[in-house]
Amino acid sequence: MSIIYKSKDEIEKIRVSSQLVAETLQRLADAIRPGMTTLELDRMAEAYVAEHGAVPAFKGYRGFPASVCVSINEEVVHGIPSASRRLEEGDIVSLDFGVLKDGYYGDAAVTVPVGKVSEEARRLLRITRDSLYRGIEQVKADAHLGDVSHVIQDHAEGAGYFVVRAFVGHGIGSSLHEAPQVPNFGAPGQGPRLRPGMVLAIEPMVNVGTQDVRVLDDEWTVVTADRSLSAHFEHTVAITDNGTEILTLLDGGVTPAGDEGL
Ligand code: MG
Repeated sequence: MSIIYKSKDEIEKIRVSSQLVAETLQRLADAIRPGMTTLELDRMAEAYVAEHGAVPAFKGYRGFPASVCVSINEEVVHGIPSASRRLEEGDIVSLDFGVLKDGYYGDAAVTVPVGKVSEEARRLLRITRDSLYRGIEQVKADAHLGDVSHVIQDHAEGAGYFVVRAFVGHGIGSSLHEAPQVPNFGAPGQGPRLRPGMVLAIEPMVNVGTQDVRVLDDEWTVVTADRSLSAHFEHTVAITDNGTEILTLLDGGVTPAGDEGL
C-alpha cells in the first residue's frame, strides 16, 4: 500500500468528518456518569451522527457489532458496548469513534475518568494524552514518521509505562485505514518522510504494567496481558502547505474530552 496524498478539498472533507467525531466524543464524555451502560454511549453516538447525515465508521467494519469502541480500565481497545456493562465510579473509559461523511473518514479517541479516579489512573491519562500531543508536535513537512513514533514512546516509557506494539495508528482518508502505519514506538530519522497532503490518525495506547496484550473470547476486546490499566488518545492530523492541523480538535482549541482534572 502506498501513501495517498490528499488535496485541499479532500482535507476539507476529512475535517468535516473529524469535527463530527470531536463533537460526538465531547457529548459522550460530558454524559458519562457512574451507572450508565456502555450501550447508552453507543446509541447516543449513533443518533448524533445520523442527525448530521453521517455514518459511524466502525459499525460492521470487519464485523465489529457497534459504533463506538468502549474500553474500560484494563481493556486497551475494541471493547464492545453492552446493555449489561455499567460504568462504575473510579473507572477509566476509552471512547474510540470514527465517522464517514461525503466519502471521507475522521477518527479520534479519548479516555475519560468516571467520577473520582485514582491518582495512578489520572497520571496514566495525563501521560498518554501528553504523549499524543508531543507526537503531534513532530508532525511537519520533511520530518520522518519515526520522529513522531519516537517521542510518543519516549514520553510514555520515560514515565515508567509501556506502549502497545500490536496496534498502531494509520493514514486515513477515503479509507478508514491507509498507509502508512503509525507506530507508537520507533527511532528518529526512520520511516517515511512527512509531506503536505498526508493525513494521519495518531493513537498511542499506553499500559501501566506491560506492552503485551490479549484478545478476549468475544474476539474483539483487547486487554493488557497483566490486566493493568490502559489508556488511549487519538487525533486525526493533516499536514498542509500552511502547517499541521489537528482536524479532530474542536473549534476553540478544546481537547475533545478528558482534559479537566488530569
Ligand atoms: Mg484509529
